[in-house]
Amino acid sequence: MKSLYLFIFLILINTSLFSQNNDHYFKFNISDRSEIQTLTKIISIDNVDGNTVYAYANDEEFLQFLMYHYDYEILSTPSLVNPKMSSLPDEIRDWDTYPTYEGYVAMMYLYDSLYPNLCSVINIGSSVQGRALLFAKISDNVSTKEPEPQFMYSSTMHGNETTGYVLMLRLIDYLLTKYGIDPFVTYLVDNMEIWINPLANPDGTYYGGNHTVNNARRYNANNKDLNRNFPDPRVGPYPTGPWQPETIAMMNIASANHFVMSANFHGGIEVINYPWDTWSRLTADNNWWVYVSRQYADTAQANSPSGYMNALNNGITNGYAWYQIAGGRQDYMCYFQRGRECTIELSDVQLLPPSQLPAHWNYNYKSFLNYIRKTLYGITGSVTDSATGHPIEAKVTVLNHDIDSSEVFCDSLFGKYYRLIHGGSYSLQFSAPNYYSKTFTGVVVNNDSTTVLNVQLRSTSSPIVKNENNIPAEFNLLQNYPNPFNPETTIGFDIPKSTFTQLIIFDALGREITTLVNEELNIGSYQTKWNAESYGSGIYYYQLVASDYTETRKMILLK
Ligand SMILES: [Zn+2]
Repeated sequence: MKSLYLFIFLILINTSLFSQNNDHYFKFNISDRSEIQTLTKIISIDNVDGNTVYAYANDEEFLQFLMYHYDYEILSTPSLVNPKMSSLPDEIRDWDTYPTYEGYVAMMYLYDSLYPNLCSVINIGSSVQGRALLFAKISDNVSTKEPEPQFMYSSTMHGNETTGYVLMLRLIDYLLTKYGIDPFVTYLVDNMEIWINPLANPDGTYYGGNHTVNNARRYNANNKDLNRNFPDPRVGPYPTGPWQPETIAMMNIASANHFVMSANFHGGIEVINYPWDTWSRLTADNNWWVYVSRQYADTAQANSPSGYMNALNNGITNGYAWYQIAGGRQDYMCYFQRGRECTIELSDVQLLPPSQLPAHWNYNYKSFLNYIRKTLYGITGSVTDSATGHPIEAKVTVLNHDIDSSEVFCDSLFGKYYRLIHGGSYSLQFSAPNYYSKTFTGVVVNNDSTTVLNVQLRSTSSPIVKNENNIPAEFNLLQNYPNPFNPETTIGFDIPKSTFTQLIIFDALGREITTLVNEELNIGSYQTKWNAESYGSGIYYYQLVASDYTETRKMILLK
């Protein structure tokens, strides 16, 4: 096999078909869909239309493909005759032109400087050839971390699928220029942190040089398909060899943040592809994905001539049902980052003539905004420590529902969670190491609305202890001991009948600083501890509220 490989390689390298580091675009027919499972490990399938497979391959992949003896037809890689290009922001903002690489970078930093309170441009790393990988982060008070969900759009990890590149640049412009004018845009920017990366594979897009998108190609400068290069839930961490610099930069930014929802844009067909790509089983939230994808496609269809965004199942498809891939970013973001990411294919033509970009903006911009809006729906709230009020990175599990890493976690800064989910009634369990879990049943949420559920978990190191032998006759709040104390003290109280009970701590100014008990308690005598490690010396009050009974006592923290 080795000598055959070498033999073919030596022949081909001397023909005009091959030049070094080429990518090959071709189509061929399969006789059975099961053949895709083998082929997708070898070549980069771009589309499967009936029995016809459209694929890309680098030299090495193409040689492997030849071993299978398919009749194939080489297709010309898309190119444009003198596409309109510009380096000038004023011309780029006509949106019927492709920016040069320098024009793109200048535009991004121009937004940063024109809208310092709304936009911050973040360089997450460099491509193989040293081009910048840029995000525009957009939010009100953009330099202040606020308890808002993070959303992410990223485009053109296949360098020749350029429609989303310009449309994302335009979306940045739209959000910034419409802020304070358009109520919907203002609402999104006020309540979320929106991250937009227009160009994830600049080396592929500017393969023909920084001044043109002609000769743009799918792969990065190392001949790797970036959308096959991410850790995969089925195959493992390295589905196609070492991680590329572009992949590592994206993984780092995803790990450093908490993207609740995202999408990555492609071209070559017009369809929304929802997870999974790697295996046939459906996500826990398949009905939510169908709902969200359907709404994207319906909205795009309503804003375009007939025939747009209606491929496969009238514009939506499960990824695996279309064709299987491993190493895609969508599955990585969903499985390893516990986000919700889909793949949106914006135009049948990969390298869209620039004159058609404005029309594609009109077809899609309402869907772009509506998809972002979905981040704010579902079940949301914060999880905090009942004794300290500190945020907890709790795990939120939807019982009898979650599978394949669909559970979400609270963020570390605010303890906020966002559980996007289809309308229904659910049981939610909140858990964290060293805390007692809590379960809420019958949590109802409707589509396109928000259910708020804030949760306090009690630390296992400061339990409410019940004295089983004592059946008190009346409510009673005991003096804490020791008193004065530093930093821990014990508070006892009696509950003569089952009732909802709160034990709240106030500072000397009467400000509520924490809640030690906040739940239904049965008859009994109880003790709980308060650790005042993070508070200063002084007088504090603790108050018991149970049924009609309220009692307040004083204690002294002496450090
Ligand atoms: Zn693509």
